[in-house]
Amino acid sequence: MKVFKSIETIRIFLAAQRNRQLKIGLVPTMGALHEGHVSLVENAKEQNDIVVVSIFVNPAQFNKKEDLDKYPRNVARDIELLKEIGCTSVFLPSTDEMYPSQESLLKFDVGYLDGIMEGKFRPGHFSGVALVVSKLFNIVDPDSSYFGQKDLQQLALIKTLKRELNFRTQIVNVPTIREVSGLAKSSRNERLDEKGLRAAVNIFKGLKLLEAKILVGASLKNAKRGVEEFYNEIDGFELEYLEIVQTDNLRTIREYKPEIETSICVAGYVAGVRLLDNICIQLKQ
Ligand code: AMP
Repeated sequence: MKVFKSIETIRIFLAAQRNRQLKIGLVPTMGALHEGHVSLVENAKEQNDIVVVSIFVNPAQFNKKEDLDKYPRNVARDIELLKEIGCTSVFLPSTDEMYPSQESLLKFDVGYLDGIMEGKFRPGHFSGVALVVSKLFNIVDPDSSYFGQKDLQQLALIKTLKRELNFRTQIVNVPTIREVSGLAKSSRNERLDEKGLRAAVNIFKGLKLLEAKILVGASLKNAKRGVEEFYNEIDGFELEYLEIVQTDNLRTIREYKPEIETSICVAGYVAGVRLLDNICIQLKQ
């Protein structure tokens, strides 16, 4: 497995692979890798000859310095894991390599997505995501790029970027990998102690509870209020938002229609650690 720290060297390497007609898959990550990331790599391996995993904790997408400082980092372990699972190349740039002039970063106005859910509660977050992902697409020029459904709003942003900026990469979304408890795997879970983990497990429970209420025909307003109460009663959990949205455009849904794919999205804090999750409502057969 090759590890590249400079844009120039990875570009030279990938140009040679492209000349050999090899397919290139990109998995962008911020490191502290877990089984969710592994699933993205496995998908990329199936569909490509070369798999590039980027590891870069992107300062431009953090709106709170404390969150950036506390973000888990373990590059040595990540590299060992990536070797084990057959990743071919790692892109590990420094902040200076990605942002040579840090005081004049480009800003993206991502419109509607900035005003809802993650965009609303993390001002500037999606501008930073759009910036780093655009740079990665330009550097790697992948045939396919792999993103998790866990970050549903990020996925919507990336699809918009592809469409509006004409990136040639195909965007592949990969289902959320969970613990047996239902808790979505996340690098941030590393920051939780046992009490925190017990509280965090309820995030998924709340989503399933709301899904069950919706499927038996409860009014969305009442069902949502009931689950907000459920969340508010969890010791150690602070709810930020709970939304029922149309999966493809993330517009709020007021009345559930089975023919419209619907997702429930939630975010909140456990012991100062911000967690998010979502599920797509599944009709029971
Ligand atoms: P991150 O390192 O958290 O920025 O995530 C890198 C990529 O992994 C993003 O596309 C995430 O959506 C994806 N991802 C994170 N957690 C999971 C998970 N539990 N299951 C599947 N994909 C995930």
